[in-house]
Amino acid sequence: MSMSFSYLSHLECPACGRTCGADEVRQLCPCGAPLLARYRLDELGKDWTRDSLIGRENTLWRYHELLPVRSRKNIVTLGEGMTPLLDMPRLGLDYGISRLYMKDESLVPGGSFKARGAAVGVSKAVELGVQKLAMPTNGNAGAAWALYAARAGIEATIVMPQNAPAITRSEAALAGARLYLVDGLISDAGQIVARAVAEDGLYDASTLKEPYRIEGKKTMGIEICEQLGWKLPDVILYPTGGGVGLIGIYKALLELREIGWIRGRLPRLVAVQAEGCAPIVKAWQERKERSEFWPDSATAAFGINVPKALGDFLVLRAVYETAGAAVAVSDEELLREQWKIARLEGAFICPEGAAAFAAARKLAEQGWIKDGETVVVLNTGAGVKYPETAQVEPPLLNIGESIPSRLS
Ligand SMILES: *Cc1c(COP(=O)(O)O)cnc(C)c1O
Ligand SMILES: [Zn+2]
Repeated sequence: MSMSFSYLSHLECPACGRTCGADEVRQLCPCGAPLLARYRLDELGKDWTRDSLIGRENTLWRYHELLPVRSRKNIVTLGEGMTPLLDMPRLGLDYGISRLYMKDESLVPGGSFKARGAAVGVSKAVELGVQKLAMPTNGNAGAAWALYAARAGIEATIVMPQNAPAITRSEAALAGARLYLVDGLISDAGQIVARAVAEDGLYDASTLKEPYRIEGKKTMGIEICEQLGWKLPDVILYPTGGGVGLIGIYKALLELREIGWIRGRLPRLVAVQAEGCAPIVKAWQERKERSEFWPDSATAAFGINVPKALGDFLVLRAVYETAGAAVAVSDEELLREQWKIARLEGAFICPEGAAAFAAARKLAEQGWIKDGETVVVLNTGAGVKYPETAQVEPPLLNIGESIPSRLS
């Protein structure tokens, strides 16, 4: 038996069902919806076993059969993936959730899970012969794509809002990207990129406008299953901007079920947003299939400040089909949670991850999450990337001065 490196078969539109080949550059379906990668799952179910993972590299490339890169030589990697699944016992006690886990993406290269999408997206771009790409970003994705593009020798053009986290700007600039700031939101950056793509023939690496970033992000779902010994959690909470991570996790679960690696009821997927930008939550509350543009969006959790997502219908589909939920939390709640998690568990997580934890607290309080259920919260990045959201002013000592003794 000779196995393929990748079982990629073709691309398919989840809106109109149209299919097309996966061996040339593709962007959106002619109907305007994102294209998704499909694999030869029937063959994979026969050829591939869970045991074959034993001894493989400790990165997301351990799942290469279910990834779109056909040849190992095209892989562009910085060692991304296989992040820890940590138990959070003290926080869980505080929430009343005895089996609470954090999938900790702060340990990925560049400090956010965006490296997963960039690794697979850029690798596939290399395989397709792309030389120049462009993308709008809220910061982390642009930083990650700029870094992986540099490693691949691809030219990256990145447009981000002026007030995106400063460190992501430095990352992209240092990596040699053509970096532009815009006095507006990611949606404004998106329009500028769309013009550049149309005029200069660049590869459009915008969220879901190329089909492979999501394939990198879906590996979070595969890892969670593998790390739980192929038993499914009851609930997964995800801080949702463009929603690619959530759509990806759901896609991974369906694929794993199809090849027979997992069975039973899928976890209830929870899309978490900030109250200052909650289009998916609003649509879910109104039982709609798509979201509406959220005007004047604002939140400290910058990565989830996405007023209208191209893949909104896929996020909502994943939530409805798993009997999940969509929850909004305030900036005050998420910043308080960020502090709590550092205090109770010693983890300094990003504000987006903290939003997902704040939602877990809420859902436990409401009885939607029951004690005894296994709950996985995605922390999508490192707190150290957002120094401006965690300002403290410790007392200053003069040289030679001693630490004041506490009066008890
Ligand atoms: C981009 C980002 C998100 C949102 O990811 P989507 O998959 O686009 O919804 C969440 N957290 C952080 C830290 C991010 O950078
Ligand atoms: Zn279509």
